[in-house]
Amino acid sequence: MAGFYVVVTALIMILTAAVIIIAFELLSVLSIVFSAISLSKSKRYIALGGRYDFKTVKRFHIAALVLFIFGCVSVFIFATELIFSLISLANVFAYKDIGSVISEAVPLILGAGKNAAVVILGVNSFRRYSGAKKMRDRLSVNAPVNRGGYFYGRKTCPKCGYENSAGYNYCTMCGEKLDKSQVTNLTIKY
Ligand SMILES: [Zn+2]
Repeated sequence: MAGFYVVVTALIMILTAAVIIIAFELLSVLSIVFSAISLSKSKRYIALGGRYDFKTVKRFHIAALVLFIFGCVSVFIFATELIFSLISLANVFAYKDIGSVISEAVPLILGAGKNAAVVILGVNSFRRYSGAKKMRDRLSVNAPVNRGGYFYGRKTCPKCGYENSAGYNYCTMCGEKLDKSQVTNLTIKY
């Protein structure tokens, strides 16, 4: 009877380990998907000069980052598996069995490729996430103001002091050239 419990306990442990490994594998694949979406959202945000919803961009950055952390655990699991796989691959090579070499090597290469993608895209999401606020601030100041109803502000003329709408490039009172550095009370609606 004691033997039965040992078998059941061992089975539960193996199943739990398998579920954890599969869950981390799935999360690491999701991290690739979300990182790719996050990248395209960033590009869209930049291409539209800040008019694309910034909260959406940031939400995808955060999701990609969280999944990246899970993805890193999967990379760690893979790295430990890799050592054992390389040992068995070396044994297979020793017997010169081409079929076995392929069946051992293909999952290794696929796994390594997936994990490389997790790390590269994850690091990229991290950089984009930390740069997201800077990106927004830069676009808010440098983007043409007052377009699409997203930017509101005033440009104070350095010559006559008239407060122009931020959309003007020349003072509406005296014709003095106005530049973006003169924008005051700029608020951005996201
Ligand atoms: Zn003026």
